[in-house]
Amino acid sequence: MTAHPSPATALPDEVRSAPLATRVLVLNSGSSSVKYQLLDMRDGSRLAAGLVERIGEETSRLKHTPLTGGESREQIAPIADHEAALKAVAAELAKDGLGLDSPELAAIGHRVVHGGKTFTDPTVIDDSVLAEIERLIPVAPLHNPANLTGIRTAMALRPDLPQVAVFDTAFHTTMPESAARYAIDVKTADEHRIRRYGFHGTSHAYVSRATAELLGKAPQDVNVIVLHLGNGASASAVRGGRCVDTSMGLTPLEGLVMGTRSGDMDPAVIFHLMRVGGMSTDEIDTLLNKKSGLIGLCGDNDMREIRRRVDEGDERARLAFDIYIHRLKKYIGAYYAVLGRVDAIAFTAGVGENAAPVREAAIAGLEELGLAVDSDLNAVRGDEPRLISPRDARVAVAVVPTDEELEIATQTYALVGESNA
Ligand code: AMP
Repeated sequence: MTAHPSPATALPDEVRSAPLATRVLVLNSGSSSVKYQLLDMRDGSRLAAGLVERIGEETSRLKHTPLTGGESREQIAPIADHEAALKAVAAELAKDGLGLDSPELAAIGHRVVHGGKTFTDPTVIDDSVLAEIERLIPVAPLHNPANLTGIRTAMALRPDLPQVAVFDTAFHTTMPESAARYAIDVKTADEHRIRRYGFHGTSHAYVSRATAELLGKAPQDVNVIVLHLGNGASASAVRGGRCVDTSMGLTPLEGLVMGTRSGDMDPAVIFHLMRVGGMSTDEIDTLLNKKSGLIGLCGDNDMREIRRRVDEGDERARLAFDIYIHRLKKYIGAYYAVLGRVDAIAFTAGVGENAAPVREAAIAGLEELGLAVDSDLNAVRGDEPRLISPRDARVAVAVVPTDEELEIATQTYALVGESNA
C-alpha cells in the first residue's frame, strides 16, 4: 500500500526540533468502547492505560489509570460518540502531562481486526488504506466499521501524526493455500472472499516469539503451537516464526470452544436450525456467537466459576469443561501433525495464563508425543514467561503472558521510528 507522507515534512518546525518522539498511543476501538495504552518505546514501559465503554449511552464510563504514579480516575457521564470519547481520553492524558499534543508522541497504533489478504504487515494509514479497510467490511461487519471510526477520529485530532494500522489477521497471511482455503467451490469462494483468515494474530506473533526467547533460540529455529485461550480462543501452528495454520477462519467463530462461541460444528446444523427450527439467520448468528460455547453448555463463561462448580461436583460444568478440553486436545494433535516436529506449546490469554487445571487436562495423556506438565511448576502463578514441563521433557510446555498492546506499539514504532531519528 502507498505510504503516508513523511512525518518529518508534515510536522511543524517546533515539533521537528523537539526531543526524540518515543511514545506510542495504542487504540483499540470497538463499536461502543475504546481501550487505550500509552507506551514509552525506549523500554516498552506503560505511561497510562484506560477504557471508555458504553459510548452513546447515558452511563458512559471512562476509567483512566496513570501508570507513572497516581490513582485511577473514573467518570460516569454521557459520552455521545467516538470523537467525544477520544477527546475525553486526551483530556485525561493531558492532566498527567501526557497530552496528545506532546512532541514526544511518535505515532498512534490502531488495532484493526480484518486486513483480508491485502495487509500482510503493519501499515501507515492514508486514504487508500482507509478505503481498503472499508472494502473489507463485508467480511468483518462488526469490527472494521468500529475500527475505522476510531482511526478517523484520531486522524482528525492529530492529522500531522503517523497513524498505523496493525491487523489481527496479518500474522496468518503466511498460511499456505492448503490451510487457508475451505473445500468449497473455488469460484464462489473467490467471489465472496471466503477463506480462512484467522484472528488474534498480534497475540500469536508476540507469544510465538516470546516462547522462542524463553527457549533461548531464534524464532526461525523453533516450531511452536500457541494456544490463545481467552474469552475468544484460537490455536496456531507456527513453523520457524511463520504461521502455517490457525483455528479461526473467515470469522472468529471457527475452531476451539470459546466463552460464548461454538467453534467447529457441522455447517448443516445451520440449515437444520433454519428448516426445522424455524430460526432466522440473525437468530442463529446470535446463538452461535453469543449463546454457545461454555455459556451455552453450562450457563457460565468464566473459567474460574466453571472450575468452582466442577470442584463442587456440578455435572453440567464438568461436561462443559470436558468438551472444552476435548476440542483443545484435538487441535494440539492436529497441529503436532501439521508441524511434524514441535519444540514448544505455549498457553496464553486469560484462561491459558491463569487456569492451571485447563493446562494440565489439555496435556494429560500426551506423553507419547513428548508432552507433560509438572504439577508443581504448573501451580506457580506469575506474570513472566515460564516453563511448566518437566526438566527432561522432549517438548517444552510454557505459560507465556500475551501483550497485544506492546506488540502493536512495537510494530507501530518500528514502522515510523526511523522518521523520528
Ligand atoms: P481474556 O479474553 O484473555 O481477557 O480472558 C478472559 C477469560 O479468562 C475470562 O472469561 C475467564 O474465563 C478467564 N480467566 C481470567 N482469570 C482467570 C483465573 N484466575 N482463572 C481461570 N480463568 C481465568
